[in-house]
Amino acid sequence: MSRLLVIGCGGVAQVAIQKCCQNSAVFTELMIASRTEEKCIALKEKLEAAGCPVKLSTAKVDADSVDELAKLIDSYKPDAVLNVALPYQDLTIMDACLKCKVDYIDTANYEPEDTDDPEWRKIYEKRCKEKGFTAYFDYSWQWAYEDRFKEAGLTALLGTGFDPGVTSVFTAYAKKHYFDEIDTIDILDCNGGDHGYPFATNFNPEINLREVSANGSYMENGKWVETEPMEIKRVYNFPEVGEKDMYLLHHEEIEALGRNFPEVKRIRFFMTFGQSYLTHMKCLENVGMLSTSPIMFEGREIVPIQFLKALLPDPASLGPRTVGKTNIGCIFTGRKDGKERKIYIYNVCDHQECYKELGSQAISYTTGVPAMIGTALVVKGLWKKPGVFTTDEFDPDPYMEMLNEFGLPWVVDENPELVP
Ligand code: NDP
Repeated sequence: MSRLLVIGCGGVAQVAIQKCCQNSAVFTELMIASRTEEKCIALKEKLEAAGCPVKLSTAKVDADSVDELAKLIDSYKPDAVLNVALPYQDLTIMDACLKCKVDYIDTANYEPEDTDDPEWRKIYEKRCKEKGFTAYFDYSWQWAYEDRFKEAGLTALLGTGFDPGVTSVFTAYAKKHYFDEIDTIDILDCNGGDHGYPFATNFNPEINLREVSANGSYMENGKWVETEPMEIKRVYNFPEVGEKDMYLLHHEEIEALGRNFPEVKRIRFFMTFGQSYLTHMKCLENVGMLSTSPIMFEGREIVPIQFLKALLPDPASLGPRTVGKTNIGCIFTGRKDGKERKIYIYNVCDHQECYKELGSQAISYTTGVPAMIGTALVVKGLWKKPGVFTTDEFDPDPYMEMLNEFGLPWVVDENPELVP
């Protein structure tokens, strides 16, 4: 018996909420609150018409305002808050959870909306020098809440999507069942789906384009090594998808895994991109369309990347037209009982199957299902301890079981091709 407040009603939220309705043994009441309440109401009506057993309600909230959030949390009194709005709202929602004494869950680490803010920039530039990577997002902002969550006896579970999220659970599972020591981790994110548009992003375009146009980086012997954007390319033959070009990116779970598994000598992250996507992105970047700095246009201030977002297809609308599969997972090398070992733990997800089940494409599906699973484990008390945690810091077994149960079955290949 539990009551959940979900913030955000975009592509990922719509999957997470529908999966909560499939798990009504855990979630009995659920409020959908977002900036545009009409979207929340439309989803509630769709679910009620389909006979959803969970008691649903909706609200309008500006998640940039701690006061507005706290008022809503105080009036609804949820057991936990699932943040599937944007990474820009992570800190305000964490503040509101502390104020109202409820557990907090999200799928992506904090990133500021305005990267020109001089206060933020000072801290960012210091971090770039000290740590050696230049991504706009990092865990320091949320890890700084550790003492406050601990003292309040509350849990903050960070990054329970697929990557980060499931990839970190795969790491904890590999360490628990397959290795005494892990030497290397290669996280592979392959989207073999085709939506038929010349250019579109699979999740929020602003967050997605910021991530993929930034410098790449990986961790070696505890230190960050930074690369130019898309500098390192590999070709990999993905089970059930086939051969794809993939590029090394900076990704947030590298930071948490590097901290929590210090014996691992190298951690890298690769994502597949087709040539056409990269050419479009480079062109948009060259003309300034990926900029987050406001410019004046016909007497009004606009942010180029937000204007671009308005032109691009809504990721939530890609479902009906996307065909093909994703393959996301981790290749581990290391030793067990003195013997060398390598495994690839991965999930394959079919875009059309996801669409048939929930009306969404596989990228939102593979993020929304783990968002529900992480939340259910916190609410059930299985993953509940005071402090701020990533998903590799708990027993992976119940999470792995729920992946099989709720639509993301996984495979362990004990003789995978390695990435050079
Ligand atoms: P969308 O843009 O589709 O949805 C975001 C939702 O948040 C929208 O409903 C939006 O409202 C709402 N929102 C935005 N700002 C506010 C605000 N100030 N107050 C209240 N609501 C707000 O994004 P996605 O669903 O694609 O992504 C959701 C999250 O999932 C992001 O944090 C993303 O980084 C993360 N993610 C994580 C992945 C992982 O594997 N870990 C993979 C993919 C995404 P409105 O409808 O009005 O725009």
